[in-house]
Amino acid sequence: MRLVLATRNAKKVPEMRAILAEAGVEAEVLALDAFPDAPEVPETEPSFIGNALLKARAITAHTGLPAIADDSGLSVDELRGMPGVLSARWSGRFGKGDQDRANLDLVLDQLADTPAERRGAEFVCAAVLVMPDGTEAVAEGVLRGRLVNERRGENGFGYDPVFVPEGESRTTAELSAQEKNAISHRGIAFRQLARELADMV
Ligand code: IMP
Repeated sequence: MRLVLATRNAKKVPEMRAILAEAGVEAEVLALDAFPDAPEVPETEPSFIGNALLKARAITAHTGLPAIADDSGLSVDELRGMPGVLSARWSGRFGKGDQDRANLDLVLDQLADTPAERRGAEFVCAAVLVMPDGTEAVAEGVLRGRLVNERRGENGFGYDPVFVPEGESRTTAELSAQEKNAISHRGIAFRQLARELADMV
């Protein structure tokens, strides 16, 4: 079986291959760069699942192959669940220089007066599979934690340097990729989706 991972993020492809292999799914996972004419799909939906479905449906329609897509973000309790689906573009600097740094700085500024006990947050990931016959499967993963004031760690991306998972003292930027995948919102969602795919084929 061949399937396409509808992402331009090169790091997600080996992660998905490993998770599918673990779940016993024998599939060749193609990256989107194998399809140079694939459409760019704007993330216009108000939910992670909605955005992931937009991407996977468009890529299945374009390639005729099953497609997997994900959408993820940070949801901060004190900000009533924001930045949420706007996580990548929170600072309004999407596509302009170091947006990860600007997004993280803005969230830290917004929480400057928020005490430690009210700094709860979670990473959320929706992962979806769309088959050429229209069958769809949806999975969601959540990683609860809290936001610290100072950046720590060099791994990961985005908000990782200030996110400490529940039961951890390190930020997700201080975890190795394997440690993070084992507990992360994306790891949980992808593993659940892989199980659904294993049941389908
Ligand atoms: P996307 O799902 O690749 O569009 O990512 C959305 C945005 O959410 C990223 O740009 C990050 O700002 C944030 N985000 C999602 N997952 C993570 C994570 O595992 N660590 C840090 N930031 C994340």
